[in-house]
Amino acid sequence: MPYAAHPVGTHPSTTASLGGIHVSSSASSLQVEAFDLVIFGGTGDLAIRKLLPAMYHRFAEGQIDRASRIIGIARAELNDASYRKIAREAVLKVDKNAPEQRLEAFLALIHYRSLDGRKDAGWSEFAKFIGEKPDNVRVFYLSTSPSLFVDLCQKLGKHKLNEGRARVVLEKPIGTDLGSADKINDDVAQVFDESQTYRIDHYLGKETVQNLLALRFGNALFEPLWNAEHIEHVQITVAETVGVGHRAGYYDDSGAMRDMIQNHILQLLCMVAMEPPSSMAPDAVRDEKLKVLRSLKPINAARTPQLTVRGQYRAGASEEGSVPGYEEELGHPSNTETFVAIKAEIANWRWAGVPFYLRTGKRLPERLSEIVVTYKSVPHSIFDQDAGALAQNRLVLRLQPDEGVKLWLTIKNPGPGGLKLRHVPLDMSFLEAFGGQLPDAYERLILDVVRGNPTLFMRRDEVEAAWRWADPILDAWTDSNEVPRPYTAGTWGPSASVALIERDGYTWNEEND
Ligand code: NAP
Repeated sequence: MPYAAHPVGTHPSTTASLGGIHVSSSASSLQVEAFDLVIFGGTGDLAIRKLLPAMYHRFAEGQIDRASRIIGIARAELNDASYRKIAREAVLKVDKNAPEQRLEAFLALIHYRSLDGRKDAGWSEFAKFIGEKPDNVRVFYLSTSPSLFVDLCQKLGKHKLNEGRARVVLEKPIGTDLGSADKINDDVAQVFDESQTYRIDHYLGKETVQNLLALRFGNALFEPLWNAEHIEHVQITVAETVGVGHRAGYYDDSGAMRDMIQNHILQLLCMVAMEPPSSMAPDAVRDEKLKVLRSLKPINAARTPQLTVRGQYRAGASEEGSVPGYEEELGHPSNTETFVAIKAEIANWRWAGVPFYLRTGKRLPERLSEIVVTYKSVPHSIFDQDAGALAQNRLVLRLQPDEGVKLWLTIKNPGPGGLKLRHVPLDMSFLEAFGGQLPDAYERLILDVVRGNPTLFMRRDEVEAAWRWADPILDAWTDSNEVPRPYTAGTWGPSASVALIERDGYTWNEEND
């Protein structure tokens, strides 16, 4: 049964088989201090689909003190009872067998207040309500359009809700370029200082991403080879099968570069490429990530056509059957890209000459997020030709679906018949290895905010450095007046994306079985 409730500190160990080896894991689920989690945008898609279920799961694990409150805020005229009904449905969607007693206990933590971020009415009463639990850590989660961030922060400041142990969580996107990101960050900083500001990138809360740190820095095996001398190239792919659907309006102002590359994919690149931090202290890790972002080779207008590909899907097929093109979904012509491929380079000693191929898109054939690190070929083959070709070692970190790690090795094909080489993966699916259900990234990240641990959140200077690299590419695309290359829904993007990597003698990873 997923998420069985256990008394704090008495979580059982699980044992599972990993290729015949038994692995034991013990979940550590220490209770966090009592908190008030205020979700602005409490009726929105993110809150209903992700944040409320995430809190329920942590509650079921015994991590949430019953003096805590989860308070949904939106303009809709709901009350505690009607919002609890919404929350109940949200939980039952992810755990249809949720025990009634536990569900009721969770719903008892939930409240709702109707407030408009742009109007004054109701804010004094809300501040009084928050003041009823002065000792609770206060987390203000801005799960609204970023255009409301400044108004909401000003209201929180006016009512002194930013004082004491108060924290604000900002959802992406933080701006649409460096200038607009600076403006949001400056305005938020008038009310919350940097140590109180948590810019969330849920990719950093994924098990595989944290595991990348454990793999790299917890094993003697990888780090000595983690450099340009031994690594040929790196690929980072975030592929979605869905189109833009009802989010077409939002997406058209954003596009794949702002929605995925500038934040999620660059954050993943940082985790792969950073130098070993001296510790897991928040600034130790973030300082190293920042150095990577600052070392990214700028892609100016002259290099943009060679190093980048942007595409937009046309009608085609997906798992749902035949699907319309982007412009048909949107209802008007558009130059917004739904696909991007980029060859990025990091100009430092460790990575000089190692290309990082980044790729993301909507309406691709598979929902897949992965990092593929390909090692160089061995310098000389001692094997006869009929032993078969030597393949390169590859480390594949899968973020979704089925989080896990695969290390491709060459071995001898078992049995008689001479020495034949075979390429096989050491394959670890976290779910298979450790059983149970992996926590969603939001579960980890929201509790990190309560604990006051910003290691897995983006610092302001990181966001700025990412925009400094992305802005010239976006400008070059706009100035070129070129339309995005069309690709048929259900394919891996425009053929130019294949050419981008094949020009260098490599291919996009397709070994996902
Ligand atoms: P959404 O479904 O459009 O929800 C917006 C929420 O904001 C609603 O609860 C809405 O309720 C409330 N709201 C709107 N105007 C308001 C106002 N003036 N005062 C107070 N509340 C107001 O948006 P979403 O998809 O949940 O996304 C929220 C944020 O998370 C966005 O920044 C988005 O980019 C980001 N994000 C979303 C996802 C996702 O999967 N959905 C993923 C990553 C990031 P009322 O209309 O009743 O006020």
